[in-house]
Amino acid sequence: MPVKCNLCDSGAILKRPKTGDALCKNCFYFAFEEEVHKTITDANLFVRGETVAIGASGGKDSTVLAYVLKVLNQRYDYGVNLVLLSVDEGITGYRDDSLETVKRNQQQYELPLKIVSYEELYGWTMDAIVKQIGLKNNCTFCGVFRRQALDRGALLMKVDRIVTGHNADDIAETVIMNVLRGDIGRLQRCTAITTGNEGALPRSKPFKYTYEKEIVMYAYFKKLDYFSTECIYSPNAYRGFARAYIKDLEKIRPRAIIDIIHSGESLSVKKAVKLPVQGTCERCGYISSNPLCKACILLEGLNRGLPRLGIGKSHKERRKLNEMLAQKSEATDSGTNSETSKETTDDASGTLGTESSGSPNTKQKCENCTCGSGCLSDKLEKVQLDRRKIDPAMIDF
Ligand code: SF4
Ligand code: ZN
Repeated sequence: MPVKCNLCDSGAILKRPKTGDALCKNCFYFAFEEEVHKTITDANLFVRGETVAIGASGGKDSTVLAYVLKVLNQRYDYGVNLVLLSVDEGITGYRDDSLETVKRNQQQYELPLKIVSYEELYGWTMDAIVKQIGLKNNCTFCGVFRRQALDRGALLMKVDRIVTGHNADDIAETVIMNVLRGDIGRLQRCTAITTGNEGALPRSKPFKYTYEKEIVMYAYFKKLDYFSTECIYSPNAYRGFARAYIKDLEKIRPRAIIDIIHSGESLSVKKAVKLPVQGTCERCGYISSNPLCKACILLEGLNRGLPRLGIGKSHKERRKLNEMLAQKSEATDSGTNSETSKETTDDASGTLGTESSGSPNTKQKCENCTCGSGCLSDKLEKVQLDRRKIDPAMIDF
């Protein structure tokens, strides 16, 4: 006998993963949208008149987010201006295709779109980075650069807030990963629906309590146009293990995802634990709890041919950097290397030099060595010292 929808008299066509309710298509759409609306209103996510950038990758989460926010903005008159913001990491055969989906979404949802690329911001594509560093740690570069690229794109679009498609499964995975790493600073932040409230650009997650399975169902039944291929550089083993672990838990206890998020929300950090103090990067002005932000350190490593600088314990790379700088210093002292020195000066400022919040092209003489090139050895050293002094939670990496 056909099963009836729990909310109306129509025939049910699905069982909601989150509640186990048998629902018809329309009641599922309504329940899904209303839950997102409740998340938004409970957390007062939007202010009338704001411009809100939806981080759009063309994948299911951000596509459904753009669609649902457009529906809710009209249904409940939030009064916000929605725009799409995409980052082109420069991954041939993946991001170029997914950006085509975003461009179609722009037409379908009639929203303005801005695309910023790693190449224009950092002078590197992910293809070029992977060529240099291989397939280990590539996601570290990509993740750090993407976070900053989204903010930069948002500033260019003069938006007031960024929303991303992070869903409940993503957040539960992040909680588990931070527990396993003992990363107290991030553990405290990762369940917050909005981060960066203290800065100019808050970031919110309207899908914080939305199950990934339901996002897929919604996209499928609504026939939304999204891109579902995985990134060609996607090892991300650590998150993969956390994901597999949560999937196993879910089989025994379907509420596991929400329970992990609630546990994360309820954790409080002892007063004695020192948490990172947010400041700004001395080089590019981006938010950072260290003298140099992670993106600047990674970029410096790439530009100097020391790509592991800034990744894990990179003592060897740091030694090489110091040796290189010492050699340059000797050459400069002997007065035979004025051209090379200038090259290094231009090199050291890198792409980000032009983005600096201070005077962009002013080269400062390094205080720690005599290379005269505005080298970063002192600041990098300070980061290392800070790392030894404090627990990993202090490092904004
Ligand atoms: Fe970037 Fe890694 Fe994601 Fe690919 S899988 S888009 S390389 S973070
Ligand atoms: Zn920086």
